[in-house]
Amino acid sequence: MSHLTKKDRLAIRAALEAQRAQLLRGLKGVLEENGQTRFADVLGRSSGDSADEALAVTLGNLSAARMDHEVRTLQAMESAFKRLDDPEYGQCEDCGGNIPAARLIANPVAIRCVACQERFEHTHAGQTHGSM
Ligand SMILES: [Zn+2]
Repeated sequence: MSHLTKKDRLAIRAALEAQRAQLLRGLKGVLEENGQTRFADVLGRSSGDSADEALAVTLGNLSAARMDHEVRTLQAMESAFKRLDDPEYGQCEDCGGNIPAARLIANPVAIRCVACQERFEHTHAGQTHGSM
């Protein structure tokens, strides 16, 4: 049984949707500036089974366009959407502890508790930060 209530999950989903919409707007703006309106259209579409493949292709192109950080964040968000209703969602990937609802609302893609995340970032310092 998850420690997250139905209300928690609704709040997390709302936060995730808002963050995703904001990120997509940013990506779309960059694509349009570069004249890549075809890809920008894909991003504007609502997510669904048929859109997923197009989205994957688009994300591949965005990766090539040196927007790796944004693309990775977006992929993490897509993955969080899929996991949101799983009983395992909200449990730390490293220690299996409960990630507090407040942390998940602030950062729905979090897969670790604060302590494990800090340890992870310390261990992998320098690897997660690109040229941006
Ligand atoms: Zn942990």
